[in-house]
Amino acid sequence: MALIVHKYGGTSMGSTERIRNVAKRVAKWVRAGHQLVVVPSAMSGETNRLLALAKEVAPEKPATAYYRELDQLAATGEQVSVGLLAIALQAEGLDAVSYCGWQVPIRTNSAYTKARIESIDDARIRADLAAGKVVIITGFQGVDAGGNVTTLGRGGSDTSAVAVAAAIKADECLIYTDVDGVYTTDPRVVPEARRLKRISFEEMLEMASMGSKVLQIRSVEFAGKYRVPIRVLSSFTPWDIPIEEEARSGTLITFEEDASMEQAVVSGIAFNRDEAKVSVLGVPDRPGIAAQILGAVADANVDVDVIIQNVGKDGRTDFSFTVHRNDLNRALDVLRTQVVPALGASDVVGDARICKVSVVGIGMRSHVGVASRMFRCLAAEGINIQMISTSEIKISVVIDEKYMELAVRALHREFELDQPEDQLQGA
Ligand code: ADP
Ligand code: ASP
Ligand code: MG
Repeated sequence: MALIVHKYGGTSMGSTERIRNVAKRVAKWVRAGHQLVVVPSAMSGETNRLLALAKEVAPEKPATAYYRELDQLAATGEQVSVGLLAIALQAEGLDAVSYCGWQVPIRTNSAYTKARIESIDDARIRADLAAGKVVIITGFQGVDAGGNVTTLGRGGSDTSAVAVAAAIKADECLIYTDVDGVYTTDPRVVPEARRLKRISFEEMLEMASMGSKVLQIRSVEFAGKYRVPIRVLSSFTPWDIPIEEEARSGTLITFEEDASMEQAVVSGIAFNRDEAKVSVLGVPDRPGIAAQILGAVADANVDVDVIIQNVGKDGRTDFSFTVHRNDLNRALDVLRTQVVPALGASDVVGDARICKVSVVGIGMRSHVGVASRMFRCLAAEGINIQMISTSEIKISVVIDEKYMELAVRALHREFELDQPEDQLQGA
């Protein structure tokens, strides 16, 4: 008997028929003798619909009071899902009980719309499991110290599932989604993309942080911190396939680096069009500038990604960085009102028409020349690089968003990612 967490994404929960299908799959695992905690997302399109309703009522206001209500609203999508799934499981003859984040409770900080999980009380979950129940917990939401409902950022149900798995020390966390695993790049953009049977935790971390939406980055961080074994697999296989087959399908996120994985120099291409570039122009070129600019942005609770500071000329320089597109106005507002006047900079401009494309692979550690190969490939397509950032196992470039698909396809080809895995690994 194993203790297992299943997470089902929006498409997997997309209709009452699909919910019944999820219930049948969960029931199969329970009947095979496993203890199950299930974490579903809102039905597909629901979170978007709810957030659009808010915009219909009034334009977005960058204020804590407003974000609190957005969370109150957006969290309802998952509440509908858990209720429906519990009813479907009861109809399957199982004892099932559903909870919202605050009922568990899943405690978070108060950063509305992107709250971080701080702790999960496992007492209620354990008691229900011991009583033979299937426990269903809302993805995406938690509660802060003041009792306010919070949400974990888009795609946050992955994080809820992995955090619950860590809290109850589950044997495995299975992330059921609408693709049958993690691919070399988004198969919707590159049809030749290939499924990876395994991907190292570090690569998955980079892929997720670079924009691959298959797993929310924080879920991968949790998995790393608490060593939660994760498998990404399809919820679109027939629900009654044998458990042994299902348990081996999809992509396993591994913590060991086996020899065969080392051989692929690049394992995947990630891309992200959710970022925007901010440039502070005519900044005096003196020590402490970066701290002043980025400090003010951090105080406004805006995360910064790629940073570039140009070489100064005449004692002045331009300082650029990327932020999430949703945070662009917040960042520009802080910079315009506080930083530009304080620094005596000349202006601040924002550009939302950018994207970031990254090549990721632990094989880069032992291979030189990956960056130049990437830059040559983009140059051959006539794509101008605006910013570059690197780590030991990834290289990212910021480019004009209109070239995104072209860049991803060209790089996928350049690094031979459409070749069958066996051929690449010489197996
Ligand atoms: P869910 O609703 O199940 O959480 P998501 O839409 O959040 O599903 O994530 C699954 C989607 O992620 C896939 O449909 C696919 O388009 C996209 N995706 C992006 N990059 C990758 C990748 N490298 N491998 C697989 N899927 C990817
Ligand atoms: N329903 C939430 C969203 O759409 C969380 C999730 O699906 O993971 O972002
Ligand atoms: Mg998702």
